[in-house]
Amino acid sequence: MNRVFVLGSGFSALAGAPLSRSVLSKIFGRPEKPGITELKSYLGSFLFRGQEDWISNTNLEEVLSRLDLIRHYRPYSNVDYSEVSFYEEQLLSEFTGLLSPGRIKPGHRAYLDFISFIKASDAIISFNYDLIIESLLTLTGRKYDYLLREEKKETSSESVKILKLHGSINAFFCHICGEIFIFSHGITGHPANGPESADSAPKKQLTCARCLLSGRQVPLKHFIIAPTLFKSYTLPSLRNLWFRALEILTGAREIYFIGYSLPEADILSYQLFDFGGRMAEPGQDIYLIDGPRPAAERFKQIYGNRLINLGIYFEEWME
Ligand SMILES: [Zn+2]
Repeated sequence: MNRVFVLGSGFSALAGAPLSRSVLSKIFGRPEKPGITELKSYLGSFLFRGQEDWISNTNLEEVLSRLDLIRHYRPYSNVDYSEVSFYEEQLLSEFTGLLSPGRIKPGHRAYLDFISFIKASDAIISFNYDLIIESLLTLTGRKYDYLLREEKKETSSESVKILKLHGSINAFFCHICGEIFIFSHGITGHPANGPESADSAPKKQLTCARCLLSGRQVPLKHFIIAPTLFKSYTLPSLRNLWFRALEILTGAREIYFIGYSLPEADILSYQLFDFGGRMAEPGQDIYLIDGPRPAAERFKQIYGNRLINLGIYFEEWME
């Protein structure tokens, strides 16, 4: 294995995607529509009672993780849990709408330079849900593989490996059989009928093709994984994907973290990089590309003196 590129929200910012810390202000800061106002007041009163400034003091992943845990453990007796699911889906619908290919335009020179710099022997581990890498590879006539199959089949040698550990806006899963389905770039709309859908794809319900064989009509859910512990391990192919990521990180000669901050809330990812770092052969080099700020302690804890903080932004690095 050659090089691994780990992408966070800072990588997609040049294409107009929000940074993880500004997603909530992006959703709720727009001229308000009735559905958005309702969603905002539900989340505010349910999760952040008495905290007026929750939108600027928290982030989307924290909100999703909290809703997810509450829905899973059902700790309150007086709460309508179908309502929790409903608003969680509304929030996901708003979020995925921000990332639809109609809004995200990877036209910046740095992206084209990046894609021509990527070789088929490289792997990309992405925590982003957008389709920037996929559309650039398609545009330049190249192939990619999401490594989502359960069996470990070798990928075609010309395919760039893309491991989207938190999911993707063009991916959906069946909550009954666990099958994950990847659709074309045109099918990214959220299955919930959100208050606003930025996507122009037809709003027909996607159903699980595998369950349909046994006569069951199961609507698919968006494959967008909040960094909570239990959720990520329930789907067999996702579990497999995380193991593939560990193998790839372990075997890498160089790892480049681009616009990725290793969020504190994301314990699973910390463990993944930590474990990969311990298992790697000596001589692995780690590069941080995230602007002129000191490397987070978390990176130093994992990689020690193997860590090289380049101190520049992605577009500067591409120059
Ligand atoms: Zn199914």
